[in-house]
Amino acid sequence: MLINKKKNTKKGGKKTYGKFSKKKQFKKRFCRFCADKIEIDYKNVGLLKNYISDRGKIFSSRFTGVCVKHQRILTRAIKRARNIAIIPFVNL
Ligand SMILES: [Zn+2]
Repeated sequence: MLINKKKNTKKGGKKTYGKFSKKKQFKKRFCRFCADKIEIDYKNVGLLKNYISDRGKIFSSRFTGVCVKHQRILTRAIKRARNIAIIPFVNL
């Protein structure tokens, strides 16, 4: 008698709940400038100062959550503001 008892049918099925059920919980980051439609201006020092460290470095977009488009505009604005001496190049 050839009776193929299929034994491990249950094991081969769906049993991947454990590993992948937990999604990584990221905070949903959104760009402040996109959300509130703030225009970045090089004269707006109070705004730009949020995006530089106390040593004068520009924070990366990974840190602040600003999108690529606005990060570029922001960087240009900060550099322009440095050039006209509103924002320091370096804080000692
Ligand atoms: Zn943006």
